[in-house]
Amino acid sequence: MLMTTAASRHTRRDAILWIALYLAAIVGPMALLLVGERPRAGGFWWDFALAIGYAALAMIGVQFALTARFKHATAPFGIDIVYYFHRYLATIAFVFVLAHVAILFVRYRPTVGSLDPRGMPFALGSGWVALIAFVALVGSSLFRKPLRIEYDRWRRWHVALAVIGLAAAVAHVFAIGSYLEPLWKAVVWGGLAAAWFGLVVWVRAIRPWRLTRDPYRVTEVRREPGRSWTLRLEPERPPEVAYRPGQFAWLTLRASPWAMREHPFSFSSTPTRPGAIEFTVKELGDFTRTIGTVRPGERAYVDAPYGHFEIDRFADADGLVFVAGGVGIAPILSMLRALADRGDRRTIVLFYGNRRWDRIVARDELDALAAGPLDLRVVHALTEPPEDWTGERGFVTLEMLKRHLPADATRFDYFVCGPTPMIRLVERSLRRLGVPFARMHSEIFDLA
Ligand SMILES: Cc1cc2nc3c(=O)[nH]c(=O)nc-3n(C[C@H](O)[C@H](O)[C@H](O)COP(=O)(O)OP(=O)(O)OC[C@H]3O[C@@H](n4cnc5c(N)ncnc54)[C@H](O)[C@@H]3O)c2cc1C
Repeated sequence: MLMTTAASRHTRRDAILWIALYLAAIVGPMALLLVGERPRAGGFWWDFALAIGYAALAMIGVQFALTARFKHATAPFGIDIVYYFHRYLATIAFVFVLAHVAILFVRYRPTVGSLDPRGMPFALGSGWVALIAFVALVGSSLFRKPLRIEYDRWRRWHVALAVIGLAAAVAHVFAIGSYLEPLWKAVVWGGLAAAWFGLVVWVRAIRPWRLTRDPYRVTEVRREPGRSWTLRLEPERPPEVAYRPGQFAWLTLRASPWAMREHPFSFSSTPTRPGAIEFTVKELGDFTRTIGTVRPGERAYVDAPYGHFEIDRFADADGLVFVAGGVGIAPILSMLRALADRGDRRTIVLFYGNRRWDRIVARDELDALAAGPLDLRVVHALTEPPEDWTGERGFVTLEMLKRHLPADATRFDYFVCGPTPMIRLVERSLRRLGVPFARMHSEIFDLA
């Protein structure tokens, strides 16, 4: 996550640079409209309505860059934060769109003309199409879960509505033409619009095409405890993708990369054992429930690596603390396996929360790591423990952390992965323990 994982000065500098670039991409094109020749002043509210209309368009255009998953741009923040940012900015842009329409409607009613779609001029009609597309876009995103819209279907509609809305908004702006004279201003805004649509082509056509050139084959599907599975994949044309322990991939199974059916999963394998990659997946919904039916030999596509939930960026930590809830163990397994292979002798404590003893993924392997290559202590916490259980019960709390962490643990780095409420609870406890923000790193398994 952004500020909690900003451990290095480089990361902070890059973050500031990208935020500055973002602001420049919004404010810059608007400022250009005010350079040189300008239309005669139409009054404060008129100009204000146009200004927020242009600002909204620039913000909507830049939204396509935010979700394009450019590795350098998402690196300083973490992809989860970029997606949250995308959602908040979309809401702000939407408020601007509504304000633009409301001001014109209330104060300049004649310019809006008749609302009868028959005979409506193109310049106005395109504006209304954009508005309807944005209402549907924002509404379906904010209320996807209560409306029970299946994620993959929502996503396809989301992209379609975004492209329709943007195209209609660009058409509206050019048809109205206010502030777009002389010609060079129209050329600049035309270039911007071309760049936004170029991003769509890159993300939805060119990147999937590139993925088809490096397919993988499923070589093993292993059942794990707790309705989980481990998938092993090998590249058809080695080597496999280069990744660091803790990172994640967008995985496509039983579909082409163009189908927009990819799902994010952390690597549970380690790059120190090359030749194959593994993902450990918990059955949760429509897609993950099909993992157990995948057969060796099936084709897969892997778009990776992504994410900054990784130990290698914090090599200076005196020790490491991992907190995993359920399948949140997947990226932590990758990190522990890598640490073992590298002969790392730092103190490591793993708090591992599960409901039941028989649902713990990689329990034996963790015992073996603790008994052998790593200075690892595993603290199991169960919410439904067996009667004779003498270990920790319930969620990972402040008291539990205090019971097991060494005195100098504020100088350790902390990696937390699991359900969002668990992450929030652990982060609060760590703050109360005096762990600096820069030493807390979380991976949220939910982007939307
Ligand atoms: C960075 C990251 C790493 C993850 N690593 C793992 C892992 O190692 N193991 C594991 O079991 N799970 C992991 N997840 C969660 C996993 O991606 C979801 O559980 C899975 O996509 C759910 O899909 P579904 O159709 O089975 O469930 P659904 O019931 O359809 O979806 C449940 C929720 O998962 C999210 N989701 C669904 N589809 C997608 C998608 N295509 N893209 C993004 N989010 C989606 C949505 O918030 C949705 O509400 C990770 C998630 C993220 C963001």
